[in-house]
Amino acid sequence: MNLTNDPSLRSWVAVPPDSDCPIQNLPFGVFRRRAGGEPGVGVAIGEHVLDLAVLEAVGRFDGPVLRPVKVFGTRTLNAFLALGRGAWSEARATISRLLRHDEPALRDNATLRERALVPMQDVEMLLPAEIGDYTDFYSSREHATNVGSMFRGPDKALMPNWLHLPVAYHGRASSLVVSGTDLHRPHGQSKPESVEAPVFGPSRSLDFELEVGYLVGPGNALGTPIPAADALDHLFGMVLVNDWSARDIQAWEYVPLGPFLGKNFGTSLSPWVVTMEALEPFRTDGPAQDPPPLPYLGTSGPMSYDINLEVHLQSGRMDEPVRICRSNFKYLYWNIAQQVAHHTVNGCNLRPGDLLASGTVSGPTPDSFGSLLELTWRGTRPITLGNGEERRFLEDGDRVTFRGWCQGNGYRVGFGEVTGRILPAS
Ligand code: MN
Repeated sequence: MNLTNDPSLRSWVAVPPDSDCPIQNLPFGVFRRRAGGEPGVGVAIGEHVLDLAVLEAVGRFDGPVLRPVKVFGTRTLNAFLALGRGAWSEARATISRLLRHDEPALRDNATLRERALVPMQDVEMLLPAEIGDYTDFYSSREHATNVGSMFRGPDKALMPNWLHLPVAYHGRASSLVVSGTDLHRPHGQSKPESVEAPVFGPSRSLDFELEVGYLVGPGNALGTPIPAADALDHLFGMVLVNDWSARDIQAWEYVPLGPFLGKNFGTSLSPWVVTMEALEPFRTDGPAQDPPPLPYLGTSGPMSYDINLEVHLQSGRMDEPVRICRSNFKYLYWNIAQQVAHHTVNGCNLRPGDLLASGTVSGPTPDSFGSLLELTWRGTRPITLGNGEERRFLEDGDRVTFRGWCQGNGYRVGFGEVTGRILPAS
């Protein structure tokens, strides 16, 4: 096992026992000190942020790949992403070593330590990357079956292509926002079944989608596909994604070209990117695939990840949130290597900082459905919140928070959260 993933590693930085960010995690993000100053790249450790620009400026990244370059004193991860796996591994190994309980270089250098280690409460998190392109897959068989049943009936739930390729659409990158950004209920056109002509107004069936996203590294040249066997080397790490969805707008507009205004009014990301290297111990088998995929989608070995996912909802009248969904990334039918291979098999080029998202992660049981559309079965089975309020879809003032984590032996590798509140239509 990679030394940086050793469960027995401890840091000289205090890490609470239930922390998402022990030394085995070391997620990357972009932050700005509330006191002022330029944004830069940091790594979370316990309840602190390690400022990598400070360490870079004093020559602490002295490995062969990172020594000649400066990539951390900027407001995006893109330059670092473009360097590829060698740079990512080198950075993680350096940071892990500097934070080890028995390594004095930073621990015993009070001046440097105080400049480089910032309490998390003193920083604001920004979007981790400048995301040029965003693709959203549709890779949960349970989700596709549930939604298809509701929109087309149980006989036509899965379209004929679904078991043969990872379905996706090109999303909108301009409306990606970082966790904590509140969103106004969108206006749009819809056609309730009860009326003849479409109507215009604020969405009446606003929803979330529980998803995980992955940031692309160096990418591929136009015309040069990424084989499934190489796909994992092209992904830097994962974040939580809330693909906010207006179901009434979506249901009316989606034929024949798929999602558009029902989706592109906002998509929220968690700020900390958990690296593929930190996730490596949590690889696991995904569902069996039948029929067998075409050879270009062939993968071997465990290609899924055991990531616990939860959705919490808090209305404007509740003092604390209530959990309304528990799911797991491992339920996804199509794995991330297959998604990358399929996305590029025609020669489409991925670029550093591109975001691919999994699609709604629904599991086999009703409490694992990753959207209100499914949890309330299109509003026909409202759920009851902790204070007795009912929900079919989101109401103004509702706050939706996703959490995710991998459970190790005595520690967890966590994603933190992605949260956002629904404001009234403007
Ligand atoms: Mn989605």
